[in-house]
Amino acid sequence: MSEDKEAPEPETEATLLKMLNELKNLTKSGWELSLSWRPGARRIERIGGVNYALNGEVTPNNVIIIYVKDFKEAKAVLMHEFLEHIIKREFSEPYILLSQMVSQAYEDIIYFRQENIIDALTILLSKLPRKKKLERLHIIEEVEEK
Ligand SMILES: [Zn+2]
Repeated sequence: MSEDKEAPEPETEATLLKMLNELKNLTKSGWELSLSWRPGARRIERIGGVNYALNGEVTPNNVIIIYVKDFKEAKAVLMHEFLEHIIKREFSEPYILLSQMVSQAYEDIIYFRQENIIDALTILLSKLPRKKKLERLHIIEEVEEK
């Protein structure tokens, strides 16, 4: 006899939705997410030359779609997709953005060093008289801000 044993939850989309709302409240995030359980539907995705049937995914308009039939598995897929969405949004995307900004800044530095060397080589090879202040010979012109 066990008094803490709850009645089994109905294996419905509504139960999954309840779980999604619990996840939102617990993590204070993912408010934009909704859910659709489509047991038995299949979506094939080609990753690295291999076809994979997805168990679930989050669409670009923030719907978690769950494809597995088994309810226990559906709950696990919901958890997976929820966490993946949150981690992506909170961690990966800002990090990717940051690394893009850093690499852009690095490219800019490289570009100016390259320009300087090319200018110097051009002067050397063409034996142009060295200007008092070396101006860039390429497309870059500094624009004065007013
Ligand atoms: Zn995943």
